[in-house]
Amino acid sequence: MHRINILDDLTINKIAAGEVVERPSSVVKELVENCVDAGSTKIIIEIVDGGKKLIRITDNGCGIPSSEVDKSFLRHATSKINKIDDLYDLYSLGFRGEALASISAISKLEMITKTKDEPIGTKVVVEGGKVISKEPIGATNGTTILIKDMFYNTPVRQKFLKSTHAETINISDLINKLAIGNPNIQFKYINNNKPMLNTPGDNKLTSVIRSIYGKDVCENLIKVEQKCKYFNVKGYIGNNNVYRANKNLQHVYINKRFVKSKVILDALSEAYKAIIPINKHAVCFLSIEIDPSSIDVNIHPTKLEIKFENEKELYIELRDFLKRALLNTNLIGKYQTFD
Ligand code: ADP
Ligand code: MG
Repeated sequence: MHRINILDDLTINKIAAGEVVERPSSVVKELVENCVDAGSTKIIIEIVDGGKKLIRITDNGCGIPSSEVDKSFLRHATSKINKIDDLYDLYSLGFRGEALASISAISKLEMITKTKDEPIGTKVVVEGGKVISKEPIGATNGTTILIKDMFYNTPVRQKFLKSTHAETINISDLINKLAIGNPNIQFKYINNNKPMLNTPGDNKLTSVIRSIYGKDVCENLIKVEQKCKYFNVKGYIGNNNVYRANKNLQHVYINKRFVKSKVILDALSEAYKAIIPINKHAVCFLSIEIDPSSIDVNIHPTKLEIKFENEKELYIELRDFLKRALLNTNLIGKYQTFD
């Protein structure tokens, strides 16, 4: 005889956490995206031991009203959408209402949050998905979330965490991506008490690129901007003096969300044929604005992939635009160096 069980909420959240929370960098991604959605102009990220021991994220965004704090840890609890149609007009990074539920199910979490309309903040402690305490506390406007002991109650997952060094590299890469996508926000990143990154938040993409990759990359960029039929694109692409053996310096954002898009990277690599050596990869920082109703971001919980309605047209338009941009630039030694 078999019996079918209906799983309780905590078990459901622990299972679902497997999709959203794979490693410390996934926690950082979800929490920082919440800070961006909260309209913050300054975000501080502190980690200890590659985020395995501690992650603390502080923002100066809108905060959560005291009466809503408990709700934010429930599954499918979001202030960002109301109905499925809202996805066709989506400009926020979050919408699934899963991150806080998942993260709090597998860690020890503390949140201090205050809105500008309330005179006092709220501190809440959540352990293994359960709210342990909630009390008023003096605080500045915004939200601080502290995550301790990731996967303390899912030992199998804890065992699969990589070395502190590997997890730190992952988090650093991720913060770079988030900072490049949001030049209007000041990002401060501290690893084991050591300052790693501090972007000015002056709304200049080149300031962020300089903070992360230095002068050499910055001096070899071509500014691009174009209104196309299916999308608008702007940003910077590398000239023929700057390229990489890997794709680490290929940054693509769709409506401010960084994505892994094969079609866009294919268009890029086609445009650079005969400009950089075979087997090398172009450098790009491209921000694409597109009608949200013509894309689907809800393919995977991590929202890194995206589906385009007009994929073929997008490929051709982008490839041809990038080709033209490169042709119109005075590239030293282009077409000759690598024949
Ligand atoms: P989602 O981002 O998909 O809405 P989350 O689980 O990440 O889901 O967050 C749940 C809700 O908690 C958000 O919709 C938002 O209302 C609130 N929230 C989370 N983080 C913050 C923050 N840093 N500042 C303000 N509100 C936040
Ligand atoms: Mg979120």
